[in-house]
Amino acid sequence: MKNSILRPIGIAAISGYTLHAIYKQGNTVLKENNFYLKFPNSEIKYYPFGHPKNNPSEIISTEQAQVVVIGGGIVGLAVARELGSRAVPTILIEQNSEICSGPASGGNSGIGATGYDADLGSLERKLLIRAKELHPKLYREFGLSYDHVKKTGALVIAWDESQVKGVAKYSYPENEQFNINLLERDELLSMAPSLSPKAQKAAFIPGEVITDPWLVYMGYQQNAVDNNVDIKMNTKVEKIDYLNNEWQIKTSNSQVIKSKNVINCAGLWGDEIEKLKNSKEAGEEKISKSDFNIQPKKGQFLVYGKLPAGLIPEEIIVPVYDEVKQTKGVLIWQTIYGNVIVGPTAENIESKTDRSNSEMVLADLQSFAEEKIPILKKYKPIGSYSGIRPATEHSDYQIKHDTDTRWTYVGGIRSTGYSASSAIGEYVADLVSERVEETIKFQRKMPSLEQLTENYDATDQTTIVYDNRVKVTHPISNFGFQKTKS
Ligand SMILES: Cc1cc2nc3c(=O)[nH]c(=O)nc-3n(C[C@H](O)[C@H](O)[C@H](O)COP(=O)(O)OP(=O)(O)OC[C@H]3O[C@@H](n4cnc5c(N)ncnc54)[C@H](O)[C@@H]3O)c2cc1C
Repeated sequence: MKNSILRPIGIAAISGYTLHAIYKQGNTVLKENNFYLKFPNSEIKYYPFGHPKNNPSEIISTEQAQVVVIGGGIVGLAVARELGSRAVPTILIEQNSEICSGPASGGNSGIGATGYDADLGSLERKLLIRAKELHPKLYREFGLSYDHVKKTGALVIAWDESQVKGVAKYSYPENEQFNINLLERDELLSMAPSLSPKAQKAAFIPGEVITDPWLVYMGYQQNAVDNNVDIKMNTKVEKIDYLNNEWQIKTSNSQVIKSKNVINCAGLWGDEIEKLKNSKEAGEEKISKSDFNIQPKKGQFLVYGKLPAGLIPEEIIVPVYDEVKQTKGVLIWQTIYGNVIVGPTAENIESKTDRSNSEMVLADLQSFAEEKIPILKKYKPIGSYSGIRPATEHSDYQIKHDTDTRWTYVGGIRSTGYSASSAIGEYVADLVSERVEETIKFQRKMPSLEQLTENYDATDQTTIVYDNRVKVTHPISNFGFQKTKS
């Protein structure tokens, strides 16, 4: 940002950026979209554009909004970034005050999955494989290095004889590209000596990576803004009408956004957005129906403080897939900051917002971790977090484009959406626009982990990324920036 002028009438213009939401936080922090501006103690109240006190209603035309993306989780953000990089005028609408802060994108494990265990022939598998090809260039644009995204590989371990078959399960010809290595017990224990000697056999998947997902989100967001995507925070989609061959989206900020293309990336609320679609004038039969319902699946995590490198295996420790419970199961890994995390669980729940942790579940996670890696008995966990997956009745991603009304839904991006997001972005953008030649247009520098930690302010949970002080919304980063040891 260049220079800034702040007007006491409540509207501030910053170097060509329009402030859509600016307000006081505590005594010192005023906030514009996702960027924080520090001011001395100020009692001035600012209202966003479109706030009833400033502007009774604002109409945004189809020229400004060639595509509207609903939802600023990782999927919507990746779709909007891709459209922006193709110079398609795009508006992203997010109800929260930060991108990727909801219970799915804001509460995951941040593991970069390869797709070795995704169903053969599924869209999920195809997009996970494509994402791996896209990441080197994309992450270079974001300024990420191997400190931020670390190739550790994963060990899928059979803990008793009954699970041995499950270890070899993924070594079929179609998985040749993942270079899966089967390890006998001796090899496994010499590679990872801190594992319990109960370990029987393992499959090593070298391509799996550990990351801080929040840093990746920051990269996506900055890149989207660099590519002129208009990100509207604190803006909830409340009504959706189809009139005169275009969509009219009414928001909580009294805006009416008109567009010929809408992409529903509302994650946990994707089914509810589908139900908002209304076309009294054109006839309800004009509106395509979705065929997915969100079935929230909670995942709880137990967190240890920073432990020395080498104390536990460097690889992500993964159990054999549980065919009965149909879940990947609980992982154990050390984050890029040194915290050890155990989770997630997979619990079907009703609520889309209940991120509480249960003492009983956390105790189970601790016993599980101590059994698999006995040295952890010497350490006490320091915290916990949870997330909620936007699962549906289907196992695969639900992506559909209605060519008639140009409505697209991107639903049920359940457990691998963080890893596949770049490829989901490309796939969905292909449905509504022309693909353009890939070049690196914007190259940013992500601060080192030391700089991020040094600039971390625990009182308001902010740090400095790309020269802006921003709110840290992912628990992996918040635990990482604190120097707490177990
Ligand atoms: C416990 C857990 C562990 C996971 N681990 C991994 C992992 O290791 N690797 C991996 O790749 N993936 C993982 N995932 C999956 C990944 O996090 C999800 O696939 C991904 O976050 C889904 O993103 P989304 O954008 O579809 O949904 P969301 O993150 O839910 O985003 C949707 C957004 O839409 C907004 N919205 C909804 N309604 C409205 C409205 N009316 N108006 C405006 N905005 C609205 C919401 O506020 C939200 O921000 C995990 C998920 C969980 C929960």
